[in-house]
Amino acid sequence: MPTYKAPLRDMRFVLHEWLEVHHHLKPLDVFADVDNELIDQVLEESSRFAENVIFPLNQTGDQEGCTYQEGEVKTPAGFKEAFRQYSQAGWLGLDADPDYGGQGLPKILGINVGEMIGSANTAWAMYPGLSRGAAHTIHAHGDEASKTLYIPKLLSGEWAGTMCLTEAHAGTDLGMIRTKAEPLDDGSFSLTGQKIFISAGEHDMTENIIHLVLAKLPNAPEGTKGISLFIVPKYLVNPDGSPGERNGIVCGSIEHKMGINGSATAVLNLDKARGYLIGGEHNGMRCMFTMMNAARLDTGMQGLSLGEVSFQNALAYARDRIQSRSISGTKAPEREADPIIVHADVRRMLLTQKAYNEGARAFANWLALQLDIEKNHPDDTARTDASDLVALLTPVAKAFMTDNGYEVCNLGMQVYGGHGYIKEWGMEQYVRDVRISQIYEGTNGIQALDLIGRKVLRDGGEKLKKFGKLVETFIKDNSANEAMSEFVGPLAKLGQDVQETTMWIGMQGMQNPDEVGAAATNYLRLVGHLVYAYLWASMAQVALSKTEDKDGFYKAKVHTARFYYAHLLPETSALKRKIKAGSKILLELDEDVFAF
Ligand SMILES: Cc1cc2nc3c(=O)[nH]c(=O)nc-3n(C[C@H](O)[C@H](O)[C@H](O)COP(=O)(O)OP(=O)(O)OC[C@H]3O[C@@H](n4cnc5c(N)ncnc54)[C@H](O)[C@@H]3O)c2cc1C
Repeated sequence: MPTYKAPLRDMRFVLHEWLEVHHHLKPLDVFADVDNELIDQVLEESSRFAENVIFPLNQTGDQEGCTYQEGEVKTPAGFKEAFRQYSQAGWLGLDADPDYGGQGLPKILGINVGEMIGSANTAWAMYPGLSRGAAHTIHAHGDEASKTLYIPKLLSGEWAGTMCLTEAHAGTDLGMIRTKAEPLDDGSFSLTGQKIFISAGEHDMTENIIHLVLAKLPNAPEGTKGISLFIVPKYLVNPDGSPGERNGIVCGSIEHKMGINGSATAVLNLDKARGYLIGGEHNGMRCMFTMMNAARLDTGMQGLSLGEVSFQNALAYARDRIQSRSISGTKAPEREADPIIVHADVRRMLLTQKAYNEGARAFANWLALQLDIEKNHPDDTARTDASDLVALLTPVAKAFMTDNGYEVCNLGMQVYGGHGYIKEWGMEQYVRDVRISQIYEGTNGIQALDLIGRKVLRDGGEKLKKFGKLVETFIKDNSANEAMSEFVGPLAKLGQDVQETTMWIGMQGMQNPDEVGAAATNYLRLVGHLVYAYLWASMAQVALSKTEDKDGFYKAKVHTARFYYAHLLPETSALKRKIKAGSKILLELDEDVFAF
């Protein structure tokens, strides 16, 4: 049976010692009352909920899964009660607007609570995650009446939310959706079509479900420009806010999946379902991007959450399991064999897990802080800078954190040897659960195209330069610090490599757009490594500055930074070479001869 303990020590290091979050939140009026004590209280409280309430439902939820019968879906035992407890404690609205029932705390706090919830039970975490996403989208694009009607109920957990984009023939290319919305005399719309793969699309946890559905109006322009967004409640809402008549949106079946089995993934059939337009006609994609940007960071967090719980268990196992003697001589003579943690190869796996996890935690916190600044800073320039960094690095967070998360979970299973492959130990569940994070919310291949195409090349590299400036300033500030030279030199070199590679792709892309597509995935990894190298150097600098280290925390931090630079960063040389191999080798093979 796996165990989980929230990594509060590292969270506090990131928030208080490294980011000095209090100092950044101070100029944001809305967070004037948020001090370190409050942050720590929220973290402690959340860790208790994650460890004691939802973690015990993780393996049982996976084994039991969801069950479908005649349009109804039953979630695994305990899920509904845990959702009730979570909602009643106010967790759903933690970082949401207090005017609509939220608690108004910063996103950076929400991201840490999210990490714990995801580590404890990712499948369960999908339900509150979708509700929060729906509330967030209505908040950004709904009129006052919709906000008042739906958001408080979504945040109190009385109702739940979904995000209905995908159709059988339209996943990445949403411009091809066929769900139709016909106007009705009273200003509402009648929606007909079918959505597939809808997370939390049907379940027994709440009295109503508020679906956000993409559909096309009659005579809509072709492609994504013709998409509109509609609120489609499962039960139509009475004027007094209570659920009324059953609407024509019904669950046809649920999917049998590789992982996150406690999360219901529904086919939804819309037959003249009544819907309410939000965000204006043909403006659906813009509205959905609001939801997707927040959801992309949350999806990236699934890579960290599952990577963290996998690491904790792999570490405990490696200290306990005895096999063989160390090559350099016996380390535990009192035992029949040495614990496997003495073997260099097992340490390689554990340190890879630790370095990617702690890098991801730093990245997610830093990005969440930019989100708080983007939304709340009184200064225009500060808001614009933060917004540019968020736009640039959201696809990197989604793809780099989940690709690494998959590697981390896979390594966790490997540390257990054959026992990792056996269900009872719980390690294979993490591999199965984390895998979807590389696919949904836009596949990682699509994130890579978004990064190089929309975020970097479209504005001539302006946003990338803003990030580059942060790296340059850090290098300049630390260039005279001897203790930092092992980080500063390689970081500066990688910064130049990224700059040079970006220009190369831009030049090649002007002659042949396929060069951009061919480079995209490797380019995103290259940028991801630049981000982590910057964050690891910066964390090492803080850890090195500490004069007291009673429990060895700072020593471990500096050591992990060194491991990152020595073992993981060298991948960037191969990435550069792969990018420069160009598109020809990918595209010239005739489709017909692929199979030979
Ligand atoms: C468990 C689960 C939960 C989900 N939850 C939701 C949900 O709540 N709401 C919702 O609306 N959807 C949901 N989805 C759908 C999910 O977002 C899509 O599966 C995903 O966006 C990919 O679409 P697709 O499956 O149609 O793949 P396709 O779009 O067919 O892609 C297939 C492959 O082709 C690649 N590809 C496609 N186009 C391009 C291109 N232009 N350039 C390069 N490569 C390309 C992709 O990267 C991918 O590797 C869920 C899916 C699953 C499995």
